Formats: sequence, structure tokens, C-alpha cells
Amino acid sequence: MTALSYAPGTVPGGPWATYLDQVERVRPYLGPLDRWIETLRRPKRCLVVDVPIEMDDGRVAHFEGFRVQHSLTRGPGKGGVRYHPDVTLEEVMALAAWMTIKNAAVNLPYGGAKGGVRCDPSALSMKELERVTRRYTSEIGLVIGPQVDIPAPDVNTNAQVMAWMMDTYSMNVGATATGVVTGKPIALGGSLGRVKATGRGVFVVGREAARRTGQPIEGARVAIQGFGNVGSAAAELYAAHGAKVIAVQDSSGTVLDEHGLDVRALAAHVEARGGVAGFAGADAIGAEDFWRMESDVLIPAALEGVLNAERARALRTRMVLEGANGPTLPEADAILNERGILVVPDVIANAGGVTVSYFEWVQDFSSFFWTEEEINARLDKILIGAFGRVWSDSEKHRIALRTAAFVVACERVLSARELRGLYP
Ligand code: NAD
Repeated sequence: MTALSYAPGTVPGGPWATYLDQVERVRPYLGPLDRWIETLRRPKRCLVVDVPIEMDDGRVAHFEGFRVQHSLTRGPGKGGVRYHPDVTLEEVMALAAWMTIKNAAVNLPYGGAKGGVRCDPSALSMKELERVTRRYTSEIGLVIGPQVDIPAPDVNTNAQVMAWMMDTYSMNVGATATGVVTGKPIALGGSLGRVKATGRGVFVVGREAARRTGQPIEGARVAIQGFGNVGSAAAELYAAHGAKVIAVQDSSGTVLDEHGLDVRALAAHVEARGGVAGFAGADAIGAEDFWRMESDVLIPAALEGVLNAERARALRTRMVLEGANGPTLPEADAILNERGILVVPDVIANAGGVTVSYFEWVQDFSSFFWTEEEINARLDKILIGAFGRVWSDSEKHRIALRTAAFVVACERVLSARELRGLYP
């Protein structure tokens, strides 16, 4: 087999290496489908684009943009777009691959894709951000479309960015194409419930996991890293169901209140000040202390690779509920497993966002919109069903939930591959 020049081992311990390690663990359970495994180890298509824009001061700046379609076997590509100074092709490849697994684990009719622009959005004006978004969309316009690949928000992108993407794509094709992106504003064909869907899914799946392990939500101590779209919505639901959100860490700092933080007040503070640092009524603690505090549920909801071996050894929690994509490194996974700490994997725990994105896409096609109650009820049903299947497979094979989720997903992707056969 010819090796890929940019693939395995390019960045040891990086997200693509983590993904490959996860796929490797599935092999013993694939039976004859194992002959197709290589298709999961190779992204179908990687597009790297130059994104030149004129800055407000007249300079010309160039940004690197990516769109990776890891798999289109089960349907169009689907996955978010990230704006971050650390975005690399390798990271986007891993995030796209996790979307393949996630969409299959939840049984949505999609393949997996992801995009990103290597930029620091906090250093850009609104107009510059709009120009980056429009040029990036135009450049990846070659490979996206309502039936082809449908982007959505991820870290540092939001409904406004999706509105610009939808408009740019629509202008280029000469027709308003609402179904080209999801996570849009409601006024442009967005779905009720989408903004909080990922955080809601984190809570719903966390509650299912707690039910099966006999842990009550009432009074549970919850620690959360990341207080953006995912972390803040999950925090709100845990608090609303009687849990105590005792610690929150974001890129500005870490705050702690053993009696439970006032989540709404914290959200207002973050809205006004841009981060949790300086929140009155809570203690500031060191960044590393966050990983050593006692909790019942720890929710990483920021970036990937944060849970390393050292932190996994130090953790004093009962459950790691992955809001972020890929927060746990393979060596940490093994340690947590040994220590009997339940890890509820990202591909199920944070699948709420893409599930409501799917609802948005369906609503855009039918031009008929559902109520928020309908959205939430359908979301809960899909996630509870998907988690139940993963839980029972994990019991059947006596394997970790992550491996079980990968087994369910890889079986679906590879069976579809086998049925389709190879072209030509
Ligand atoms: P966001 O931009 O809204 O929030 C990110 C949060 O992480 C912020 O609070 C930020 O301060 C914090 N953060 C960033 N770097 C940090 C660091 N070094 N240390 C501590 N905190 C840090 O992003 P989001 O949409 O909430 O996404 C968070 C994670 O969830 C990402 O891994 C993303 O891929 C994943 N995810 C998001 C969605 C979605 O619908 N938004 C869906 C599935 C998965």
C-alpha cells in the first residue's frame, strides 16, 4: 500500500494520529468488512485554498483555507467550519473523519466533512471577517452545495458567518440556496433549537449515561472547559435540572464556586467581557487546578487534545462527557478506562448540533418549518436511541463506549461502501 505523504505520523500525537488509533481499535469487530478499512484511513478529498482579502487599512492579507471531505459514501458531506490561528490541514482531516463517524453513529444520511480558515478572528474587524468568509466560500464553492457538502458553524463561526456563506454561494449560482449551509439565522431558513442543540445533546446523552450508571443529576458536581456555544448551553441545562456547575474554564481563565456558579449571570458576564475571568462571586483558580478538582461530570467543550496522560491520572471525576471534538488523547483514554472513569465519546455526546442541522436541511428542502418542541423531541429521541445502541454494543463486546460507537459507525460506512462497490 502506498503511504500518503501527509498522513499518519506527520504530527505524532496530533488529531489525525488520534483518529487513526481509534479506527485501529475497531478492526477486531469488523469481520469481512475489514477489507474496506483503508477507505476510512484516507480522506476522499482535501481542498487547500488561498484566501486573499483587502484589510481595512488597505493592506492585502492572505489566509489559508481548507475543506476536507473525508467520506461521501453514505450521503453528502456535512461538518462545520472553524476559524482559528492553529487550524491546519491535519486538524481539518481529523475533524472531517470524526464527522463521518458521528453522522454514521447517529445514523444521519451524511458522509463527513470539515472546513477551516487559519486566522485569528478576534484580530479582524467585522468587515474583514465578512471578506474572509465570502472569499473562502467562493474558493470552496467548487466542492460544496445542498446535495454535495453542507458546512455549518464550529469554533469561532456563528449564524452570521453562515448567512454570509449562504449569500455568497447563492450569488455565485444565481439562486437563493438556503440548504447549502446549516446553523443559519432563523430569518434565512435556520431551524429553531439549532443554537443550543449541541449543548442540549451533551446534556441529554450525559443524563442517559448517568441513568445507566446510577448517578443522579440533582446535586451532581459539573466542571466545564469552554463556555462558548456548546459549554454554555450544556451548563444551563445541567443547572436547570438541579446540578451544580462548580467550575468553568475558558481561554480567559478558570472560575470556581463549590456551591454552584450562577450560570445565567456567568453567561451575561461572558457576553459583556468576552470571557469568564473576573466573574464576581467566584474564585479564580489556576488552569491546571481545573483538572484536579473533584466532580461527578467533567465536560471538555473547547478544543481537541486537552486530556493528556498526566491530566487523566490527576482527574477526580466519575464521567468525562466529551462536548468538544477529540478532547481525549489515546493514552489518556487508556488511563481513564483503567481507572474506571466513564468516557462518553464526542461522536455521540456532541452529535446534537449536526442532528438539528440535519433537521434544518430537511426543513429547507420542504420549505416547511417545525416548532421548537418538535425539534427538541425528535432530537432527544434520536440521541437516546443512538446512545442506547452504543451502550448495548459496549456491553455485548465488553469494550469502551468510544470503541463501540466507532464499531456501530464503521459498520454502517463500510457496509454502504461494500454495497456501492468501487467505481469504475
Ligand atoms: P465556541 O467558539 O463557541 O467556544 C469555544 C470555547 O472554548 C470558548 O469559551 C473559548 O474561550 C474556549 N477555549 C478556547 N481555547 C481554550 C483553551 N486553550 N483553554 C480553555 N478554553 C478554551 O466553540 P463551540 O462551538 O462551543 O465548540 C467547542 C467544541 O465543541 C469544539 O471542539 C467544537 O468542534 C465542538 N463542537 C461544536 C459544535 C457546535 O454546534 N458548535 C458541534 C459539535 C462539536
